[in-house]
Amino acid sequence: GPTPDEILAMRQAHVNPGIFHYYKKPLTIVEGKGQWLFDETGRRYLDGFGGIVTVSVGHCHPHVNAAANAQNALIQHTTTIYLNPNIALYARDLAAKMPGDLKVVYFVNSGSEANDLALLMARAYTGNYDVVALRNAYHGGSQSTMGLTSHHTWKYNVPGGFGVHHALMPDSYRGPFVGDPDAATKYADDIQNLIQFGTSGRIAAFFAESIQGVGGTIVFPDGYLKKAYAHARAAGGLCVADEVQAGFGRTGTHYWGFETQGVIPDIVTMAKGIGNGCPLAAVVTTPEIAKTLAARIHFNTYGGNPVCTAMGRAVLEVIDQEGLQANSLARGAQLKAGFAKLAEKHTLIGDIRGLGLMLGVELVKDRTTKEPATAECLAVFEKCRELGLLIGKGGLKGNTLRIKPPMCITEADADFLLAVLDEALAGV
Ligand code: PMP
Repeated sequence: GPTPDEILAMRQAHVNPGIFHYYKKPLTIVEGKGQWLFDETGRRYLDGFGGIVTVSVGHCHPHVNAAANAQNALIQHTTTIYLNPNIALYARDLAAKMPGDLKVVYFVNSGSEANDLALLMARAYTGNYDVVALRNAYHGGSQSTMGLTSHHTWKYNVPGGFGVHHALMPDSYRGPFVGDPDAATKYADDIQNLIQFGTSGRIAAFFAESIQGVGGTIVFPDGYLKKAYAHARAAGGLCVADEVQAGFGRTGTHYWGFETQGVIPDIVTMAKGIGNGCPLAAVVTTPEIAKTLAARIHFNTYGGNPVCTAMGRAVLEVIDQEGLQANSLARGAQLKAGFAKLAEKHTLIGDIRGLGLMLGVELVKDRTTKEPATAECLAVFEKCRELGLLIGKGGLKGNTLRIKPPMCITEADADFLLAVLDEALAGV
């Protein structure tokens, strides 16, 4: 095959430059096994980012591969104009994981598509137009979901996101109500103010990630979503939980991120970890809301295709059979305790956030001023790669390390991750 330099040259010539790559010297990955990735020389790296929180149960998992291979040999594509057992079996099994009346699934292919569809459903069901989302959110890159997204990196100066209003992000580290015991109420009240002053008083939906992922692993104050949902529902809006990153057991304590806030949404969108890397996403809602789409035909050529649904179903089985939710809880606690220890000697660490294996470590130049340590964060991130650990980077100023490995990492892997981070921080 081509060398890394040749790959890069072809990419630069023919792949849109809007598609960026990590690292000054780009990394070529040719193989993956469990929590490990291998470059073209055979060198292995611990995967601390899971292809952006997507490889939930480990690379090339034998059970998921077996499901995909068996289905590939049988039939790969039909569209939903014919019956095939997979979509039905998988919809049944996925619905069984959902609380309340969330029992009807619509399969699509990406998180952006899922949020697009949720937006359509909410507007069609309620007859309302305005939508509230949160600042610092990421809900997708399609024209309409870019409007829900509120993060400068992904914003183009083009029309889109009509009717979307962004409320204060409930940020417990930097927000206006840091340390305030009523922070949850005050942040949620901002939604009510937005609705009152910026809309007719009626909204179609309130969108929120259960934990903001791209935005730097922002965990909301306890009780926030309950209050936010109450304001949205009082204005006629449906509550949409974007579980694209926080779902499928990753938080450790719960299967779904919204459960950590004690709420039941009206619509749930999911992608990434749902398929362990295959293009699969879903919108789950109640039978009543789902009926709205039956007024017309809403069609998705690849959505729910036999191969992806076979893989998705296998992922559900692996999470349960291998106890990956419990492992997320244990490894997450181990990592968080380790980060806290590192913070005793590395003053760059300003904040440690997250639940389970959805973790963020924010780096600052000064703990009092909280000045973002963006260049230092990049240096730590590069150093980790040199030392055999791949993690993510993000947050509003690019100064948060994002650690979201496949949920199968072991205690020894977590120790390795901490040792690498220690050495990388010491070198900066
Ligand atoms: N929602 C969230 C929370 C995400 O993190 C992402 C992707 N980063 C999306 C939606 C969009 O997913 P996709 O890239 O599959 O369109």
